[in-house]
Amino acid sequence: MSNYTTIDLATITNLAKRRGFVFQSSQIYGGLSGFWDYGPYGVELVNNIKALWWQAMVRERINVYGIDGAIIQHPRLWKASGHIEGFNDPLVDCKNCKLRFRADHLAEVDSSDIEQLTTLLNGKVCPSCQADALTEPRLFNMMMKSYLGPLEDRESTVYLRPETAGSIFTNYELVRETTRSKLPFGIAQVGKAFRNEINPRDFIFRVRELEQMEMQYFIHPDTQADSYQEWREFAWDFLVSRMGIDPERLSWHEHGDDERAHYAAAAHDIYFHFPHGKKELWGTHNRTDFDLSSHIKESGQDLSYFDPTDSSRFVPNVIESSVGVGRLMMAALTNAYTEEEVNSETRVVLKLAKVIAPIKVAVLPLSKKQPLIDLAKQLFNEITKAGLMSEYDETQSIGKRYRRQDEIGTPLCVTVDFESLEDQAVTVRDRDSMEQTRVKLDQLIAYLANQFKL
Ligand code: ATP
Repeated sequence: MSNYTTIDLATITNLAKRRGFVFQSSQIYGGLSGFWDYGPYGVELVNNIKALWWQAMVRERINVYGIDGAIIQHPRLWKASGHIEGFNDPLVDCKNCKLRFRADHLAEVDSSDIEQLTTLLNGKVCPSCQADALTEPRLFNMMMKSYLGPLEDRESTVYLRPETAGSIFTNYELVRETTRSKLPFGIAQVGKAFRNEINPRDFIFRVRELEQMEMQYFIHPDTQADSYQEWREFAWDFLVSRMGIDPERLSWHEHGDDERAHYAAAAHDIYFHFPHGKKELWGTHNRTDFDLSSHIKESGQDLSYFDPTDSSRFVPNVIESSVGVGRLMMAALTNAYTEEEVNSETRVVLKLAKVIAPIKVAVLPLSKKQPLIDLAKQLFNEITKAGLMSEYDETQSIGKRYRRQDEIGTPLCVTVDFESLEDQAVTVRDRDSMEQTRVKLDQLIAYLANQFKL
């Protein structure tokens, strides 16, 4: 038995919509499957998660550098990377109800081996209409296409990147030169990627427009094992120590031979217990020298590395760390969602780590009357200038306002009441303990800064 409770998908989806985290994109037109828009609290949460990762991955490391590559790259990049040939999902169609399914999901295997899938799916009926009308499995390329210039033909075809890694490999030599780096060193990137998923589903878990945080670590081939271990530990530690994820909700999953991507010699995913099951959140992969060797072949450029210590020359190997921003946000929301009984009522509270909470401090005047409002707005200004994202809210009863802040995970509420002008103090309420502390106005910023360890 685990010590944590898992909520269902509808609860998290409803909260995200009702409280302004995530909206279905193009909602007024009925939505577009696989695309989501982040609302006022979602964009803050996502930005905080990305900033936290960038801090741990780039800023705190002497030898990891950031880049921001273009979404559309030269099509030859995707030829070299194997995506044009091999970035395929196996699918089957139902000839009766016209629905389309992932063949590997129907066969309940992690494989895109068509022969194996054909055997496993033999005799299966459509999971939706139960008709014996499934087609043979076939491969479907998941890259999204566009065209450059006025002509829509093969020559002008370009692809929206299916992963951010591509431009890291093409910039490897430029980054190495400009940073004067020796191996090992890493290049990190956060950005959008696009995959024409057959069945986008499970809220923001499987989408067609996603955002990734990836880092490729370029190493001497002899150090593969140690480096692989180091980046597996980094991922686990980031989730637990920085994001505040309960380690009991996490587990390791090692890819079997038929499950690994075409480039990987080893792959370990961290699974998170999502509302719809234990699923992949963060991958660590040993990509060997596959990428740089492929680009050497395709581009004709020399991307080998000269090691001055022993005058050897070789193609660097790569350990990759790759996590989806949306999945991480969904994991953070699932992990944080708590229901508590308070005075025989249910209190819903998002116990997010303070560092990622979208709003750090809510400033709440007890009444809409002056001079409370002026003082509250003045405090709001001072708190935001001190670097804490704050929200000013004067509508509804104080109880309702606390509940709303609990549900968006605001760690502290500052309440300005009728005594505040007399005793020059405000009440600070803690989200998790609900304890209230009276704090003098001239000590408020220092008190808050200390709570957030600024
Ligand atoms: P999956 O097996 O779930 O399709 P993958 O193994 O293809 O994922 P990678 O190519 O390793 O995933 O991508 C790295 C990370 O990007 C994943 O760990 C995941 O967090 C995220 N990711 C991949 N595909 C999607 C998607 N369609 N929607 C949201 N996030 C995704």
